[in-house]
Amino acid sequence: MNNYSENEYEIFSRLFILNEFSEKNLKILSNIKIGIVGIGGIGCPLSQYLVNSGIKNLLLVDGDIVEKSNLNRQILFNLDDIGKKKVDVAREKLKLINTECNINIINKNIDSFNLNYLKECFIVVDATDDWFTSKLLNKYCLENSINFLHSSVLKHDLQLILFKNSDRTNHLCLNCIFPNKDDVDLPRCSSVGISSISAGFAGLVAAQKIINFSLNLKDETNIMTIFDGKKLSIDNIIIKSKHDCYLNTV
Ligand SMILES: [Zn+2]
Repeated sequence: MNNYSENEYEIFSRLFILNEFSEKNLKILSNIKIGIVGIGGIGCPLSQYLVNSGIKNLLLVDGDIVEKSNLNRQILFNLDDIGKKKVDVAREKLKLINTECNINIINKNIDSFNLNYLKECFIVVDATDDWFTSKLLNKYCLENSINFLHSSVLKHDLQLILFKNSDRTNHLCLNCIFPNKDDVDLPRCSSVGISSISAGFAGLVAAQKIINFSLNLKDETNIMTIFDGKKLSIDNIIIKSKHDCYLNTV
């Protein structure tokens, strides 16, 4: 049996009528927990569309407060929220869609001390704009066999990839693709800019990958989705394992 109430069946009536939302899949959907690290331009639309898609258990991690420069793309926030903690506002707004979803929050940026809160997640999403955190999450998820979705947007370009760490027969991780060991001085949204619409696209693509993977609708593992939000061109590239990756033995 799944965990949806009559009230929820009404909210999701136009969704659950789709063939993909069988009783077996609703049971999965109503039980899995998704962790989102970074409630920004990607994390806002992602969390909203996961709740809109029937996901009932979320863990949101972010230590920042809402600032005016967030409002053009972080769609859970408005002028009244400036100065408030992002995770508090996000939880409040998401509960307005479905009061019965469980939104756990960590009002801190993720670090080596609080990583263990992610342990119960079926998928952890890296929606940060910080290479050091991406690498930290990659290693932690590998070590703990937690599926890991990395997402990033710069200017109009987005890239997303889901690593199936629950099945470790063939090693592939973020470090295989980007092997630099240390934090490097990469361009960031604050210096080169970010399209509001491309951030939204990234949140939606991440949400669809999570639904596809969780309900086994389409193989999303080890496929790098690259999308140019201005040209509206999308490519799905199959990524191969890098045998000399230093995390191969983790
Ligand atoms: Zn690797």
